[in-house]
Amino acid sequence: MAIKSKVDAKYIYSFGGGKADGNESMKNLLGGKGANLAEMAGHKNLKLPVPPGFTVTTEVCTYYYDHQKTYPKNLEKDIKKALSEVEQLMGKKFGDVKDPLLMSVRSGARKSMPGMMDTVLNIGLNDETVLGLIQNSGDARFAYDAYRRLVMMYSDVVIEKAGGMEPAKGKGIRKLMDERLEEVKKERGVSLDTELSAEDLKKLVKEFKSLTKKYLKVEFPENPWDQLMGGIGAVFASWNGKRAIEYRKIERIPDDWGTAVNVQAMVYGNMGEDSCTGVAFTRNPGNGDHYFYGEYLVNAQGEDVVAGIRTPSPINNESKNDHSKDLITLEKFMPSQFKELDEIQQRLEKHYKDMQDIEFTIEKGKLFMLQCRVGKRNGIAAVKMAAEMYQEKLIDADTAVMRVGPNQLIELLLPMIDPEEEKKNKPIAKGLPAGPGGAVGKVVFSSEEAVELGLKGEKVILVREETSPEDVDGMHKAQAILTTKGGMTSHAALVARGWGKCCIVGCNDIEIFEKEKYFLTKEGKKIHDGEWLTMNGTTGMAYEGVLELSNTDLNKNTSYKTLMTLVDKAKKLGVRTNADTPKDAEQAAYFGAEGIGLFRTEHMFYGEGSEKPLFLLRKMIMSTTVKERKSALNELFKFVKKDIKATLEVMDGKPVTIRLLDPPLHEFVPHDKEKLQELSKELGVRMSVLNRRILALHENNPMLGHRGVRLGVSYPEITEMQVRAIFEAASELIKEGKKAFPEIMIPVVMGKHELRHQKEIVDQVYLEVCEKMNVQSIPYLYGTMIETPRAALKGDSMATVADFFSFGTNDLTQMCFGFSRDDIGGFLPKYLDLKLLPEDPFVSIDQSGVGELIRIGVEKGRGIKPKLKVGICGEHGGDPESVKFCHQLGLNYVSCSPFRVPIARLAAAQAAIEEK
Ligand code: ADP
Ligand code: MG
Ligand code: MG
Repeated sequence: MAIKSKVDAKYIYSFGGGKADGNESMKNLLGGKGANLAEMAGHKNLKLPVPPGFTVTTEVCTYYYDHQKTYPKNLEKDIKKALSEVEQLMGKKFGDVKDPLLMSVRSGARKSMPGMMDTVLNIGLNDETVLGLIQNSGDARFAYDAYRRLVMMYSDVVIEKAGGMEPAKGKGIRKLMDERLEEVKKERGVSLDTELSAEDLKKLVKEFKSLTKKYLKVEFPENPWDQLMGGIGAVFASWNGKRAIEYRKIERIPDDWGTAVNVQAMVYGNMGEDSCTGVAFTRNPGNGDHYFYGEYLVNAQGEDVVAGIRTPSPINNESKNDHSKDLITLEKFMPSQFKELDEIQQRLEKHYKDMQDIEFTIEKGKLFMLQCRVGKRNGIAAVKMAAEMYQEKLIDADTAVMRVGPNQLIELLLPMIDPEEEKKNKPIAKGLPAGPGGAVGKVVFSSEEAVELGLKGEKVILVREETSPEDVDGMHKAQAILTTKGGMTSHAALVARGWGKCCIVGCNDIEIFEKEKYFLTKEGKKIHDGEWLTMNGTTGMAYEGVLELSNTDLNKNTSYKTLMTLVDKAKKLGVRTNADTPKDAEQAAYFGAEGIGLFRTEHMFYGEGSEKPLFLLRKMIMSTTVKERKSALNELFKFVKKDIKATLEVMDGKPVTIRLLDPPLHEFVPHDKEKLQELSKELGVRMSVLNRRILALHENNPMLGHRGVRLGVSYPEITEMQVRAIFEAASELIKEGKKAFPEIMIPVVMGKHELRHQKEIVDQVYLEVCEKMNVQSIPYLYGTMIETPRAALKGDSMATVADFFSFGTNDLTQMCFGFSRDDIGGFLPKYLDLKLLPEDPFVSIDQSGVGELIRIGVEKGRGIKPKLKVGICGEHGGDPESVKFCHQLGLNYVSCSPFRVPIARLAAAQAAIEEK
């Protein structure tokens, strides 16, 4: 029976003449291009002027590969039948020497795929039929122009590329032919291909054919039928071409999808001054503006518009740019055809309910539609179109929310290099795009220099091999960071992403000479300290000199506001932020954060203003007795309290999760002699004692060492001081008539007994503070971070003590995999290459492993306390896929760095909509 169904199968779908066998919903069978051609030609609301043709289905492609590269039995017969229908509609015959019908062969997979075969136009021309074409068109120049294009495209895409041949003379046959074309233009003293005579083009046809024979060792086929079948076969062959296979791997497109082939009657945009070809969008894809936007070229064919053969003209005034502002618009040049096209584009957008990218050709004043598809757009345009289409009632709220990719929002938040400027410049180096946006600054090679110049208000770019926590201050002051080593999870990348700062890492085509203060580009150019550099962190390109940046103010972006209102209505998951300073908190609140999910107390010991508290912390660390430690803690207290109070105040009653001191103490130990001497003086102990203490603090494996709650267990006075600061800060705010809601969070816990131990301190201090400050009560929660696999597995017993869980997914990933976060650069790239891991688990939650721990933790915890508040904090909170996963697990919130807050909100909304 299976064989019978194969015989009966429909392999060819025709379109044209006001009807079509297929429609838009049949993308899997007809490919994107074929399905949309059918829709445009046949749908009762459209019936657009589409040149007739037919689509050979993707099933033929699958059959072809399942059957040793042969076709189904009746295919040729079916093609002949479909072709004769086209002949009837066009009133011409394929291969006819008097009045030949010419065809195009166009590939078309489900998704548009670079690497698939390029289009071949003018199939059916040979030395005989070209004479018929001349006679009928009365235009020998046009006919030979079409012919030389056929020989070029056929040789390039069918014979060379699809045939898997080595590029002729190392550059490819098309290049050789293009060079020859250029030479002829030069010989004739003309600059445009349209200025060549029929005689010139006729000679080129001959020369092109001999180039093909000479370098590809194949004769250009004269027989029209052979040309057609050769073209179709080449499309199928290109499905398994090297570039297509690679692309499928990257995009995870299944190999068995196959491609369709579209065969379509030619219409000619190169038939003289009343003909043209163009590309247009129903809205501007660069900024989202709601007007028809596009370009066209008179007397041209195929991809000339995009290929930059001549400067294309704008279709209307709105489409003018610097290059084209003096050229005549289609609206002026062909008013009635423009009007028809304009009406069609409006109908298309209404029909598809989305911005369309369309291709058209006008042949001797008659308009034809050659393609339409949903148009690609940048982030700014995506937001604008979604919001406006919703307001125009073209789409509903859910559709609007789904229209914008979460990561596209980044483009709205950051300054960007002016795209026109960028096009004009050549990058001097390329690295990994670690922090998006654009930045301009003077090159500096040390953090100190960055701070120094930064404080003077100068714009600098910090260029280093790699960065470490000591560089944080300089990184903060810099406009952007460029490192030659390190990957997407390196220190520089993480820090930059958190701040929404432009950053390029792993830029190994430059070499830094730190002493001499310059870096060397691949091309041997020296860029010295103090010279200007411009970076595009979205693409990883660096440019010499100053390129203009354009900024966007979110508050002024009404489309963004409209969209985010819809987002907040749709989402169920809360979005908080990781913020360590009042300034971060303010930034995050502006981006819509509903609280702080992670406030790290240790932050006050890094960077600006940290000198005094850091000194006191060091004093505390170096103390050898409880008494000394308590006195140091006492001094430290007021700094901690001030920091916490300011942050609680900014958040105005929204929850602020304050994590108690987490890092191993030795991280704060001074290493330079001067600082040590200062300490020794202050503490009144000898240097040798200090050095011994430092040695004692050394750990072999600090990540698994004396850190987190273990500090609070060994030195309860550290916990006590912090908790006191929290409660006093909160009660002072309450007394000032303000709101405060701290959540005390204990890090790196492994079980309920540790939690109990710390809780006793909290309870004790709470009573003391209430009495001292004379307040009835202070609202707060007591909870735990879940970062060790054991804590997740013990969710039920942990919930007996904790009011909330916050999964610290960075450490949880580290401990679940046993991968050191800081050393992953050594092996992860290979793992990703070999596909031993689908992606970096520190970027997107490993759902089946780490995710399973989270699921267990939540389930067990809520089994004891059904209303247990659960969130995550860590880099993952800003990763759209991870956010969606958290929604599915029923978490209360995710917490991420301030700049990722809008992204997380959008991802949360999309997760809720997808669930419906
Ligand atoms: P792509 O997938 O690269 O967009 P297309 O199949 O759309 O390739 O072909 C590229 C261009 O070739 C089209 O934009 C159009 O200008 C031209 N073209 C394709 N088919 C025809 C045709 N039947 N008549 C005239 N021009 C055509
Ligand atoms: Mg196209
Ligand atoms: Mg941690």
